[in-house]
Amino acid sequence: MGSGAASGASAWLDRAGCLTSAGVQAIASAPAGQAPAVLAVHLASCVRCQESLLAADRPAGEPRTRAEAPPPWRIGVVLVAALLLLVSVLWTIHWLTGS
Ligand SMILES: [Zn+2]
Repeated sequence: MGSGAASGASAWLDRAGCLTSAGVQAIASAPAGQAPAVLAVHLASCVRCQESLLAADRPAGEPRTRAEAPPPWRIGVVLVAALLLLVSVLWTIHWLTGS
């Protein structure tokens, strides 16, 4: 039952040993080369934290090259498929109700 005198590194790292948002802030706001050693050591070996630091560092409008959004050609394929489906449904209705 240690009453929470948690400060410093324990506020910067979560249970998995990864940077919390406070840790990311601590590194982002530290002058280059003077980030807290605990954080710098973890950061050197953890891609996830490097990415969250980069994301925090980067202006919000700038896109990251990640596989999150579908490529434009896939959107085109989906649109064309939807259009073909619509046309075939309309054609079927026309065929059913027509003479
Ligand atoms: Zn990490």
